[in-house]
Amino acid sequence: MKVIVIGGGIMGCASALRLRDRGAEVTLLERAVVGAEASSAAAGILGGQVEAHDEDDLATFTRARDGYGPFVRDLETRTGIHVGHRVCGVVKLVADEAHAREICALHVSRGLRAEVLRGDRVREVEPEIAGDRATALFFPDDAQVEPERLLRALGAACALAGVRVRTGSQVTGIDSAGGRAVGVTIGDELLRADAVILAAGSWASLVPGVPKDLPRVSPARGQIVSLEERPVRTRRIVFHDAGYVVPRGDGRVLCGSTLEHVGYEKAVTAKGIVDILGAACAAIPSLGGASLGAAWSSFRPFLRGKGPLVGPSPLPGLFLATGHYRNGILLANDTAEKVAASVMG
Ligand SMILES: Cc1cc2nc3c(=O)[nH]c(=O)nc-3n(C[C@H](O)[C@H](O)[C@H](O)COP(=O)(O)OP(=O)(O)OC[C@H]3O[C@@H](n4cnc5c(N)ncnc54)[C@H](O)[C@@H]3O)c2cc1C
Repeated sequence: MKVIVIGGGIMGCASALRLRDRGAEVTLLERAVVGAEASSAAAGILGGQVEAHDEDDLATFTRARDGYGPFVRDLETRTGIHVGHRVCGVVKLVADEAHAREICALHVSRGLRAEVLRGDRVREVEPEIAGDRATALFFPDDAQVEPERLLRALGAACALAGVRVRTGSQVTGIDSAGGRAVGVTIGDELLRADAVILAAGSWASLVPGVPKDLPRVSPARGQIVSLEERPVRTRRIVFHDAGYVVPRGDGRVLCGSTLEHVGYEKAVTAKGIVDILGAACAAIPSLGGASLGAAWSSFRPFLRGKGPLVGPSPLPGLFLATGHYRNGILLANDTAEKVAASVMG
């Protein structure tokens, strides 16, 4: 089985590795370098519970979160690259206690750990949270990973496993014959395959030859500011009204993120920074003394309606691994498994 994967983000790399492990001959085509876009820019929250807004998501997201340990241990064993997987818990600040109690009851009824925090208990769990925040939800099993390191590990694992990784290779078309995908073009070069995986993130709908009836993937920009906090103070991931704070545990604290539909304009804006840091410092006042590190932006692959697009497409031979929006890091291993099963099955 010859497989071509378009895109070297987390979806492309994780799917390529899984397919190779199942015996496929895999070529991964990336127009820039592995992890060039959203996958390395992400905050790395594995928000199995905090990101789930309905019961289906809760089941899918917590399964993905709970499978992350074995996924990253396997990568670390293959490559020796540590990817910063930590079960640090998430505290979500809320205004409506009654609603928080409903959410908590749902999670507990599904066998998950969750707690409504009130008053001093909020600061027992995360001492840096502002004294005026009286109510929060606590999900102790939500976790984090360092996406930039994860993508380095995935790229290395692919190469070590025998995936042919071609960087600097922009796919200019998906080729079809007899009503099925038969390969791709890169400029004048034709590459033939039994299966093509579309994992081009926010650019998936722009690849020529993609079926017209596929839901359109568009970019949703997110900006992140990284602070340096020494000595380390914040321990838990904290969700507040306008985003989140993700302490890495080594002094770096990521503050995110905007959610903007502005096309493919990669920029860190003054308003973005003011909004992100204003809300972060209001929720965690000690961050006001942290020093500025880096700031960046990238594009979440956004689908109108419920996503993502995973598995067979309307064009036989073309398979999909895109549209994961806010939770692509969380869902990567699950997606790779589904893609490999649908291609090899
Ligand atoms: C600011 C921000 C914070 C985020 N935080 C989190 C988080 O905390 N937790 C979480 O789970 N998710 C998070 N996400 C979402 C997550 O990053 C994405 O869902 C995920 O990375 C998407 O992976 P992907 O492989 O589909 O896309 P990408 O990583 O964008 O990869 C697509 C790749 O395809 C390549 N490509 C495109 N077109 C072509 C072509 N024609 N030929 C060859 N290559 C091509 C691109 O160069 C790119 O490398 C965040 C996203 C952003 C932007």
